[in-house]
Amino acid sequence: MSIYLFTRGFLLLVLFLSCCQTNGQINERYVLVIHGGAGTILQKNMTPEKETAYKEGLKAALEKGYAILKNNGSSLDAVTEAVKVLEDNPLFNAGKGAVFTNAGTNEMDAAIMDGRTKAAGSVAGVATIKNPVTAARAVMEKSEHVMLTGKGAEQFAAANNCTMVDPAYFFTQARWDALQKVKAEDSSKMEMDHNPRHAADTSKNFPIAYKESYEYHISKFGTVGAVALDKMGNLAAATSTGGMTNKKWGRVGDAPIIGAGTYADNSTCAVSCTGWGEYFIRAVVAKSISDQIKYAKLSIATAAKNSLDEVAAMGGDGGLVALDKNGNFTQSFNTDGMYRGSVKADGIIEVAIYK
Ligand code: ASP
Repeated sequence: MSIYLFTRGFLLLVLFLSCCQTNGQINERYVLVIHGGAGTILQKNMTPEKETAYKEGLKAALEKGYAILKNNGSSLDAVTEAVKVLEDNPLFNAGKGAVFTNAGTNEMDAAIMDGRTKAAGSVAGVATIKNPVTAARAVMEKSEHVMLTGKGAEQFAAANNCTMVDPAYFFTQARWDALQKVKAEDSSKMEMDHNPRHAADTSKNFPIAYKESYEYHISKFGTVGAVALDKMGNLAAATSTGGMTNKKWGRVGDAPIIGAGTYADNSTCAVSCTGWGEYFIRAVVAKSISDQIKYAKLSIATAAKNSLDEVAAMGGDGGLVALDKNGNFTQSFNTDGMYRGSVKADGIIEVAIYK
């Protein structure tokens, strides 16, 4: 009798577990993957202290997002909170560490997308929102729009409980010094490049030594982003950036453009990009990765490589994190390095910087 009861109980348990699996209720393949910008990141220009600080920054973001996923939270919350941690860290070019525009201001862009509903929200050119990713999320959840810019975006954020700050909050000496350096290099090289293809960034002509320096490095890179898959099988992506040092005329990069720098679709993947925005916009990188998975049935790694190859063929560079619906992910880049990290259900955190 007891053997009968035991066998029955065991069979019921197996039945219950397999039902849960097919309903996607207990997807234990939850994952969070982040980046903190791609670019000329060379070990020879890093002190061990700086390297540790970057790695600690990435780790803190992963820990925050992982706790959410582990406790049955949503991928949307995980990417929002992970990006917020990076926005609050002055080492990264987003939020507190945003780079300066030519006018000496900070103008930030951010986006978020929900792979379950394909709802999306973004803000561009904002200067008074402490965590631009929270404003992007408010646009997605509390407005009928997808993208808001400038003052209007700030008014909307203020009215929707985002923390607002004085623009002076975003001042950091390192980014300010980087702006002065870029301006000096820029004016001495301005005359050299008449190729309109490169007009968006005269840095193509900067001397190699400068391009490999820490000043150049922090003047250009450090955009942050996250992609996550939660226990319910839902994907989400978020990206946040100060853009490119010395940008002018209200320039907006790829980060807040849905399909270019940020994209998520439960049936394919979630993507967050970093790099030379003008190229990522024209190659529509994030959505093209999703399309390659959907229509050509390519793997996430192959799709990401194809899209980055397209960016490179056009003359651009950068990187991305992409995660598919089965938990496979790639951290791809065609630069010297990319701040990056990941954590899977086992809780083991991995962070890396160089190639
Ligand atoms: N993609 C960003 C932009 O073009 C910059 C970066 O990722 O470094 O605004």
